[in-house]
Amino acid sequence: MAPIQKEADYLVIGGGSGGLASARKASGAYGAKVIAVENKRLGGTCVNVGCVPKKVTWNAAAIAETIHDSKAYGFSVQQTAPFDWTTFKHKRDAYVKRLNGIYEKNLGNDKVEYLHGTASFVDPHTVKVVLDDNTEVSVKAKNVLVAVGGKPNIPSIEGAELGITSDGFFDLETQPKKVAVVGAGYIAVEMAGMFHALGTETHLFIRQDKFLRTFDPMIQDKVTAEYERQGLHLHKRSSQSKIEDLGNGQKRLHYKDADGEGTLDVDTVLWAIGRSPELDKLNLPASGVSTNDKGHIPVDKFQNTNVPSIYALGDVCDKGFELTPVAIAAGRKLSDRVFGGHKDAHLEYENIPSVVFAHPEVGSIGMTEPEAVEAYGKENIKIYSTNFTAMYFAMMEPEDKQPTSYKLVCAGKEEKVVGLHIMGAGSAEMLQGFGVAVRMGATKADFDRCVAIHPVSAEELVTLK
Ligand code: FAD
Ligand code: NDP
Repeated sequence: MAPIQKEADYLVIGGGSGGLASARKASGAYGAKVIAVENKRLGGTCVNVGCVPKKVTWNAAAIAETIHDSKAYGFSVQQTAPFDWTTFKHKRDAYVKRLNGIYEKNLGNDKVEYLHGTASFVDPHTVKVVLDDNTEVSVKAKNVLVAVGGKPNIPSIEGAELGITSDGFFDLETQPKKVAVVGAGYIAVEMAGMFHALGTETHLFIRQDKFLRTFDPMIQDKVTAEYERQGLHLHKRSSQSKIEDLGNGQKRLHYKDADGEGTLDVDTVLWAIGRSPELDKLNLPASGVSTNDKGHIPVDKFQNTNVPSIYALGDVCDKGFELTPVAIAAGRKLSDRVFGGHKDAHLEYENIPSVVFAHPEVGSIGMTEPEAVEAYGKENIKIYSTNFTAMYFAMMEPEDKQPTSYKLVCAGKEEKVVGLHIMGAGSAEMLQGFGVAVRMGATKADFDRCVAIHPVSAEELVTLK
């Protein structure tokens, strides 16, 4: 059967954070004829296997911690049954499914035509879409956005496929009793933290001595030490050689770490060692769009690729910020520029705040101390920092007190705040407001001029000596 022919001003490949935001803006705000293609579930990584189900699970972990803490405040909360992972998981799935429906409705509201199928390039302006029933649609588009996101990396060791990735984390029907998490970035630290808080025996395998190594050294030191203090089993300077299937859902992980060679029998091995662009089905070479050595698509600040009228954004591009709000903002700005006549519209890729939902939470914006030293010279940098125990923990036994650490990195005579790094309860919510200040170019004196709010942890950031 001949393919169905369609035409569009804008074809958006990928119905995730960036693609949907851009498609809706182009059509809803500027009246462009837009077609959006998604081959899995609308909402992409963030909604289905990322931020959303992760944060809901983090909330569950935080509640487990609060139940534990409540004793110190005079409560006698008895858990009569263990955490019901299965019921929780099904409720979480239902929530995500509701969101999928809302995303589809929103596309309709903004008059975006939605095709559920897999897109692949035929030439720079022609894309073939194979729908679920194998019908072929050929779309001729004046502009094409590649917003196909990424997928988790899996190492090439024997039995690696016996492990799961973050996608598989959200499929777990029952709570593992014992897990090995391999990796040292956002996902490893968040998922290991959640497993541990919910009562799973958690082993975290890292290649170096610390994790979160792209963060300020204070964050690396403090969070690594805190995870060890809380009783997560950290395997430093580790590597893995093989996973064996022991039957009954058990796996044996063969590894080396700072203490030598060993094996660990677990229910689940979780790989969290980074992500790569999802380009497998796209036939990108037919578009002429180039990729770098890691498979990312190089773009300029306007999200232009090397091929005119083909754009890329979000996790697939080479900007180095794999965050939902970055993909959304870049997508909206792109539509403002291409369809809204705002010739200079683009996302500014500086001072982007981000949070790791660790235990405790981590927040960071701007330069780390080493980056600032490199940029301004050591003599032009002043560091303000503090370590304290938040008042919430005052009632706790010493072993239940979590640390809080804050750092301001200031540059020049005027002490402009060029980096802000915080770790401690509440840091995720706290960072957004401080992010506005840092983006506006606030100095240490501006911070100090803001009268403290008492008694909250954040007041320490405006009273640093
Ligand atoms: P995606 O959201 O991945 O969307 C791409 C879409 O394209 C996918 O739905 C895919 O199915 C589709 N697609 C791919 N190829 C084709 C094709 N050929 N045809 C049709 N469709 C195709 N970010 C945060 O800001 N905060 C968080 O707390 C956070 N937590 C995270 C937790 C986890 C476990 C993970 C994995 C990520 C997390 N992120 C978080 C990162 C965030 O999810 C991503 O940065 C964001 O989803 C990227 O958006 P995107 O539009 O680039 O791609
Ligand atoms: P990251 O890039 O954050 O971290 C992966 C880390 O794993 C590497 O930095 C490396 O650290 C380590 N690693 C790499 N290869 C191996 C290996 N073979 N064995 C052991 N460790 C290895 O990737 P993630 O997968 O954690 O997350 C992907 C992205 O998703 C993040 O960068 C982030 O942008 C986004 N995300 C955001 C979240 C949020 O906003 N809260 C939450 C989750 C994800 P080292 O060099 O130290 O060994």
